[in-house]
Amino acid sequence: MYTLDPDKAPQPGETLDGYIRRLRISASISQQQLATAAGIHLQSLGKLERGKTGRLNQKTQTGLAAALSIPIEYLEAICSGKPVSSIETRKFCPQCWTPGTEPESVWTLYRAKYCLLCGTQLRANCTFCGEPLTSFKHKFCPHCGTAYKAATQKRK
Ligand SMILES: [Zn+2]
Ligand SMILES: [Zn+2]
Repeated sequence: MYTLDPDKAPQPGETLDGYIRRLRISASISQQQLATAAGIHLQSLGKLERGKTGRLNQKTQTGLAAALSIPIEYLEAICSGKPVSSIETRKFCPQCWTPGTEPESVWTLYRAKYCLLCGTQLRANCTFCGEPLTSFKHKFCPHCGTAYKAATQKRK
């Protein structure tokens, strides 16, 4: 399974150029090597590391994420100026998740729509009132009291 290194997440206040440079240096690769691995022009990468590029197109994002072994979400977060925690969706599998425990990381970070363990569609909200799950420590929706675990059955 893919494990996430917390050092690879964007740090608070880090800029896109600083972030890319930091990851590249910690991976001990040159700009040329990174550009080649990411399938982008060396010149584009140079501009990016000098802070001349605030936004990445889809192809660049995908390439850089693969070359630096980071989730695309990290790049999206830093481009949009939001902390990673704000883009991590708190998704859970209504079948496998035990309320009150930390979820499987495969549910939350990636663009997963279905549970890898049982194939159930992942949920991020209370089925009754639609409020997003705010903490995996909660067993019930704080807004309406609906149990998250039983949230597959709609209450009327
Ligand atoms: Zn499941
Ligand atoms: Zn609710």
